[in-house]
Amino acid sequence: MTAMAEELTMDGLGRLLQQRYDEAAEHIRLESQVRSELNVAQQGPGDIADAGSLASESAQHDLVSAALHEQLHRLEAALVRWQAGTLGTCETCDGRIPVGRLEIMPWATQCVPCQSAADRGR
Ligand SMILES: [Zn+2]
Repeated sequence: MTAMAEELTMDGLGRLLQQRYDEAAEHIRLESQVRSELNVAQQGPGDIADAGSLASESAQHDLVSAALHEQLHRLEAALVRWQAGTLGTCETCDGRIPVGRLEIMPWATQCVPCQSAADRGR
């Protein structure tokens, strides 16, 4: 009996990417909502201690939001590659990138050996 996890197809991967993209976009939307509420709170009357904690909260939201935008950008690039049919092809050796790797790192543009070689050369 094989205990292997069912292998993800490229179609499945595309759906997964789209889903993650939607989730990230939704997360960004919620994040900016929270952020604008914080802005309103910052502009309103309040004591100095409040202003300080609001400012650090805002800074945290900026970090989260930057990370989310980065992720969205990578997912978008991966989706474009998926639509073009180049997702899963190593940019360096033209070999196949395992779908399992793409599932974890959909923005991977190199197979594992090429990536480690590039990392070593850095
Ligand atoms: Zn390669």
